[in-house]
Amino acid sequence: MTDAVAIAALWVEKASRVILFTGAGVSTESGIPDFRSPGGIWERYDPREFTYQRFLTSEEARKTYWKMHTEFYRLLLSVRPNPSHYACVELDRMGKLDCVITQNVDNLHQTAGLAPGKVIELHGNALAVACLQCGELYSRADVQGWIEAGQEVPRCGRCNGLLKPRTISFGQAMPVQEMQEAIARSRRCDLFVVASSSLVVEPAASIPLLARDAGARLIIVNLTATAHDSSADLVLHGGTGQTLQEIVRRTTRESHPCQEEGDSAT
Ligand code: ZN
Repeated sequence: MTDAVAIAALWVEKASRVILFTGAGVSTESGIPDFRSPGGIWERYDPREFTYQRFLTSEEARKTYWKMHTEFYRLLLSVRPNPSHYACVELDRMGKLDCVITQNVDNLHQTAGLAPGKVIELHGNALAVACLQCGELYSRADVQGWIEAGQEVPRCGRCNGLLKPRTISFGQAMPVQEMQEAIARSRRCDLFVVASSSLVVEPAASIPLLARDAGARLIIVNLTATAHDSSADLVLHGGTGQTLQEIVRRTTRESHPCQEEGDSAT
């Protein structure tokens, strides 16, 4: 592991456009269970009730949806960014970070200090709400206030259309602009680091291969093996927070040998 971290740090040092691709495991390290894991949301709710089609057609499904989402929102209010998020911020401060592409919806990259323009959210953001009819945007906190005042299914104040958090539900199309930007940036980067994504959900799972095929080095950091390990230039099996922090610390030390150790990533 140590040698692999040293190689990764060397590649970060040589790179000028690094992309971090973050998956569910990065949120897990902040205490947000993967929806699919034991203890996750789908152990208590039936995922078949949460398709986009059900949301559009059934008032009962919408009530259940907002009940689940209220639970998720309360969880989000209680969690903080972890060393993975701060490692991304540190790479940005070093002038290395092109962007973060994330499958997570928890806004923790921005909470840690990344500018919103540096974060491409493939599955949306749970802290924003939009009207499906007129597009009006609402803050999640405002909508939660209406729910707690008794509205089981909140509606748009302008057009009475359905409101929905700006996350991508089962059966809902991927956001076109975000996908296009993620693909374009991945083709231009020189180092692509996958952090805690099992790389099984398409089309997002193909993005690292686009980067590699366009000439970037590909590093995969994950607790367990992924579907694309054999395509990577380097694979590090370990906790993402600790591994990314160590890579950034080594890069910082080699770029600025006089800097004190230990104050760089958090
Ligand atoms: Zn509306």
